[in-house]
Amino acid sequence: MVKKHMKKTPEKRDAKKRGEKEDELRVKKIEFGIVIDHIPQGKSWKVSRILGLDENSQSTVSLLMNVPSASTGLKDIIKIEGRGLTKKELEKIALVAPSATVNVIRNYAVVEKYKAKLPEAIEGVVQCPNPNCISNKEGASRFHVKEFSPLKLQCDYCEKVYSDHEFSF
Ligand SMILES: [Zn+2]
Repeated sequence: MVKKHMKKTPEKRDAKKRGEKEDELRVKKIEFGIVIDHIPQGKSWKVSRILGLDENSQSTVSLLMNVPSASTGLKDIIKIEGRGLTKKELEKIALVAPSATVNVIRNYAVVEKYKAKLPEAIEGVVQCPNPNCISNKEGASRFHVKEFSPLKLQCDYCEKVYSDHEFSF
């Protein structure tokens, strides 16, 4: 009888397996487009704003929030049909969701996969939060990554250091 109670139940492992399978299905449902995966929980709104996914957007968009993830607990996912990402969009995404990965989908298959990555110098991507900064008057901006985690950017013009939440997108 004791042995019966001690018997290992594979429920947990199965749940994890099921979760991963579902993720695969979500990716494969798109015929052509992108899937932005591993967005930190709650950041998908910001990422969709960066991508201009508002009421004027023509793309079919799926926002998946609080999706169980094997590595990070919960994550958000955005699927966008019929479009890709520009370099500037990718840099902006890296500012708010440095853990994000981008899957490029063609004919329901992932043909390319890359990580959102910030370059050493971020030029013309975000405005300096300092209203008196000369960069805002000249219409140019340039930041250097001071720290990656948590993210801190230094303005090349006013030399102040900012966290990601101080930028508006
Ligand atoms: Zn500045």
